[in-house]
Amino acid sequence: MRRFDYSAPMSLREAGEILAAAPDSRPLAGGTDLLIQMKERGRRVPRVVALRRIPELRALTANGSLDIGAMVTCGEVAWSKAVHSGWPILTDSADLVGSIQVRNRATIAGNLCNAAPSADVSPSLIALGATAHIVGPFGERSVPLDQFFRGPGQTVLAKGEILARISAARPGAGTGGAYVRHVPRREMDIAVVGVAVQLKLASDGRTVQDARVVLSAVAPTPIRSAVAEKALIGSALGAEALARAGDGAAADARPISDVRSSADYRRELLKVYTRRVAQLAYERARSNAG
Ligand SMILES: Cc1cc2nc3c(=O)[nH]c(=O)nc-3n(C[C@H](O)[C@H](O)[C@H](O)COP(=O)(O)OP(=O)(O)OC[C@H]3O[C@@H](n4cnc5c(N)ncnc54)[C@H](O)[C@@H]3O)c2cc1C
Repeated sequence: MRRFDYSAPMSLREAGEILAAAPDSRPLAGGTDLLIQMKERGRRVPRVVALRRIPELRALTANGSLDIGAMVTCGEVAWSKAVHSGWPILTDSADLVGSIQVRNRATIAGNLCNAAPSADVSPSLIALGATAHIVGPFGERSVPLDQFFRGPGQTVLAKGEILARISAARPGAGTGGAYVRHVPRREMDIAVVGVAVQLKLASDGRTVQDARVVLSAVAPTPIRSAVAEKALIGSALGAEALARAGDGAAADARPISDVRSSADYRRELLKVYTRRVAQLAYERARSNAG
């Protein structure tokens, strides 16, 4: 591992100033991506700026709405009863990240900022309509999470900008969501495909009024499938609607072939997983219909 300088500022402002002034510097959260890239893949980072001493980044609020500070770990989210009761789709995602040890270090924000196409947290947060709140040298800005990703390892964050927190409204009664990924191994593996579905039912308690379907590991960034969403909306999730949703997700995907799967196999998996996850989200919405 190459030598690097280390700063641990106590405010967001100071962190932003250090990052903006030092070329190629990077924020450090849990380090489960960054330190491995530096140690094993030769990534050159002359200065890391640890975010761990900035108090406001540690807050997790899950009551009327969800607010996740940048240093909140996947474990804190996965094991929060309040998150599970209001945003179960996010529990599904956070609980899948690595092992217990990894989840104790890995942050939700780091998972987003690392921008791996196969990351497990981003699909669920996009399906929830979450917002990224960014602080930087030119002030603060908020970006809908479905516009946050630019490509593998790339986000809209500019030099000196820090993702300070992520927020999402409470979906409420008559809604349900789920995230499921396909991995050859049960644990400690990377998604071959991942599907997040968030549904809202109409007042009859059975017709889908709104749907968000988000796919991971099948494009350079997590993507929404407009065709799958259209197939689900207005249906009571019969076999025909589910089949059209699965086919729609496969059609909207832009998978590659790599060591873990061929593109064709990923498309086939998407058909199965989109149906399966939509069904699970629907069951959760029905039981939440009040
Ligand atoms: C053994 C192992 C298993 C894993 N399994 C999974 C898995 O199953 N699913 C999965 O999705 N991931 C998995 N990961 C990847 C990893 O744990 C996650 O991506 C993690 O959430 C990253 O968070 P972190 O806090 O460790 O980020 P870091 O490594 O500290 O940072 C990641 C990147 O984001 C930047 N960054 C971090 N925080 C901010 C911020 N607030 N603002 C701006 N930039 C920031 C850093 O500069 C860096 O470029 C695994 C990793 C390991 C080592």
